Amino acid sequence: MQVPFFTHLRELERHGSVLMHAVEDCVHSSRLILGERVAALEQALAEQFCGVGAVGMASGTDALTLALRALSVGGGEVITVSNTCTPTVAAIRDAGATPVFVDVCEDTLQMNVDLLEQAITPQTKCIVPVHLFGNAVDMVRLMEIADAHQIPVVEDCAQSYGTMVHDAPTGSFGAISCFSFYPTKNLGGWGDGGLCVCREEQHVAALRALHQYGWDDASVAQSEGVNSRLDELQAAVLLAKRSFIEEDLARRRAIAAQYDEALQHASAEPVATTPGATHSYHLYVLRTPDRARAQARLREAGIGTAVHYAVPVHRMPAYAFLGYEPGSLPVTEQAADQILSLPIFPTLTDEEVSYVGEVLKSL
Ligand SMILES: *Cc1c(COP(=O)(O)O)cnc(C)c1O
Repeated sequence: MQVPFFTHLRELERHGSVLMHAVEDCVHSSRLILGERVAALEQALAEQFCGVGAVGMASGTDALTLALRALSVGGGEVITVSNTCTPTVAAIRDAGATPVFVDVCEDTLQMNVDLLEQAITPQTKCIVPVHLFGNAVDMVRLMEIADAHQIPVVEDCAQSYGTMVHDAPTGSFGAISCFSFYPTKNLGGWGDGGLCVCREEQHVAALRALHQYGWDDASVAQSEGVNSRLDELQAAVLLAKRSFIEEDLARRRAIAAQYDEALQHASAEPVATTPGATHSYHLYVLRTPDRARAQARLREAGIGTAVHYAVPVHRMPAYAFLGYEPGSLPVTEQAADQILSLPIFPTLTDEEVSYVGEVLKSL
């Protein structure tokens, strides 16, 4: 049996008519940029994530960059993790700040909030927790620390649409929360897209200007902006997909439960879920001391895998200038050699999931 790591094609078989109708309606409407669909998606997500407003962006990376620009982090330090996808760090640099990395928890591989306080300096302008894999950072503790130091928080929710922590959704804690609609993400579009949810009107206004040339309502630039709009077509697809997102999330969780069960009989183990969190399984990540062997075994069995991420950002050549030596983030670095992501997307069949489970038992 061949089990792909990811494919969006089967979703078309299952939900094709709903999705194609949404696209067709959109193409026949009068506005293709910043029309009613983008507005509807912004309103829906603002409500869902307890914001006063939301602003669609051209990508998750732009959502992070412009959120950080709206908070004027330029010239300062932004605390985040190296155990993340590169764009978290690229956005901090693009906003003119210096990333400061804290290590992650040994069991969950999420930001170790106990290390935050010692990373805070008078230059700290923002904290960017990354809810990696669809798991969650301990936001209750993080917000206590951030509030005590009056440092704003930008949540990187690119991988955590649908994740809960202590009964609140990730993305409902920080000053601004950033989402990605990259096709593999839990709520994925048919191309690039992103969005910021804001807790304060002033940030909504700042982002509306920043993402469209710095314009005010009279098309006069009051600040230096960029073009980073969410397409009306992507918003149409995303609104349609939201009609079955709860089903999709439940399916991801059911697949994860089966993998968890299978791994009880294996030498590999799942990366733990943060206490109090409800994982949304954008990725299912296991940990094994002999990754090469596990990956080869799965490959021979026809099962696609991936590594998120093989090189921590602080060890990438582009970021060598930051000066993090090997061993400076030991938990992150050790995990990078041991983690392996399994296929987990809603249209995997029961047969495929059982088959992956059988192969996992032999690891
Ligand atoms: C996908 C991702 C992003 C960036 O999103 P794009 O839409 O690809 O620009 C940022 N942070 C994390 C953790 C991601 O996984």
